[in-house]
Amino acid sequence: MATTTISTKSQTKDLNGLSLIAAHSHISGLGLDENLQPKEAAEGMVGQLKARKAAGVILKMIQAGKIAGRAVLIAGPPSTGKTAIAMGLSQSLGSEVPFTAIAGSEVFSLELSKTESLIQAFRKSIGIRIKEETEIIEGEVVEIQIDRSITGGHKQGKLTIKTTDMETIYELGNKMIEGLTKEKVLAGDVISIDKASGKITKLGKSFTRARDYDAMGPETKFVQCPEGELQKRKEVVHTVSLHEIDVINSRQQGFLALFSGDTGEIRSEVRDQINTKVAEWKEEGKAEIVPGVLFIDEVHMLDIECFSFINRALEDDFAPIVIMATNRGISKTRGTNYKSPHGLPVDLLDRSIIIHTSSYNADEIRTILSTRANEEEVELTGDGLALLTKIGQETSLRYASNLISVSQQIALKRRSNNVDLPDIKRSYMLFLDSDRSVQFLQENSSQFIDDTGAVTLGTAG
Ligand code: ATP
Repeated sequence: MATTTISTKSQTKDLNGLSLIAAHSHISGLGLDENLQPKEAAEGMVGQLKARKAAGVILKMIQAGKIAGRAVLIAGPPSTGKTAIAMGLSQSLGSEVPFTAIAGSEVFSLELSKTESLIQAFRKSIGIRIKEETEIIEGEVVEIQIDRSITGGHKQGKLTIKTTDMETIYELGNKMIEGLTKEKVLAGDVISIDKASGKITKLGKSFTRARDYDAMGPETKFVQCPEGELQKRKEVVHTVSLHEIDVINSRQQGFLALFSGDTGEIRSEVRDQINTKVAEWKEEGKAEIVPGVLFIDEVHMLDIECFSFINRALEDDFAPIVIMATNRGISKTRGTNYKSPHGLPVDLLDRSIIIHTSSYNADEIRTILSTRANEEEVELTGDGLALLTKIGQETSLRYASNLISVSQQIALKRRSNNVDLPDIKRSYMLFLDSDRSVQFLQENSSQFIDDTGAVTLGTAG
């Protein structure tokens, strides 16, 4: 099997859905202190202390690599921050740990089967840290040592390049060596590295001319490339997801599918071969497996076949941690006639650890709304915020949050940059929350088409 790796460090964080990101753009972490205690309001997170503390414990376990193949269920009423907590967890994990977010309904697509969608989501959530040991041949070797200080904080301090062909070096795509000259750098050459641009200039076989040094200035580091001796083996590390390896090695798709996202179904033989190969790399110490997180929002939208797939997939060698969120109480599991807690089959519930979220008090609602207004760059007056908070308490946090930008438009119409009480009142009158919408439906039911397809116009009231 021809295995190919992506040479640039792949950013496997995959936060699907623009709206998901926009709604939570004010969140930059779980807002915990170093002892995992939740601060009342930090990193955009407000209240929900117990749930955030529990998420913090899970965060530590993921970071310690101890919790692969487990399921976590975040359950609670609508708009109580379940998705927000998952997003906060994702932010705290950092870019090295893969995080994939999907909504339950996304697996029902015409292009992919349900299980294929889930397999892809699972495999996107497993990172493979590949250590490439370069075979170094005498006389052909160039060693460029780059200090952290010189490359402006790039992660790798040292780079060993086995080839003298600059095209190949370019292909490595490593930002650190951007600006490299097309000239061949050979063993024994002296090169200079400009601190600001990272540009590498070849100065010749030996460095003797003082004026070269002066011209480069103190920001430049000079490196003598070792001559003629066998170098020690060095490592270059790339992190890619298992799914990316699948796509690259799938003949039908090819690596371009990585960019279009149009991967189609991947044959199970390809995946089996890759699993075997990755297991070999792991055995040989060439690769490390980084279990990431698969977040499934609105998990009650999945059906019994999907749940049974998840049950089995959690036992796989390459299982991520699966975090699910739901706002359902006792409800039917899709695809069955059985009711169960949260609409999840009991065997999956049994293997899940459950975090509960609960409704917010007025202070918390006020702080969240004020954070959202800041995020949306909307100036709310004190009275405006007080009314919005009251609306949030009586309807829902999400409805009140939606009124922020609507009220801003209304304020702008009266040429004001401040959103005040009357603006909020007007938007509340213009746009119904779900309770008032239901009331409207009940009062005008005869004018709507019902389940039987009948409409009885003119009999209303
Ligand atoms: P649903 O069950 O309807 O999917 P949810 O529990 O997932 O709801 P979220 O989408 O997380 O609720 O929250 C609604 C909005 O309120 C989002 O914009 C979210 O970022 C914000 N929010 C909720 N809880 C908090 C919190 N504790 N701190 C800061 N923002 C929050």
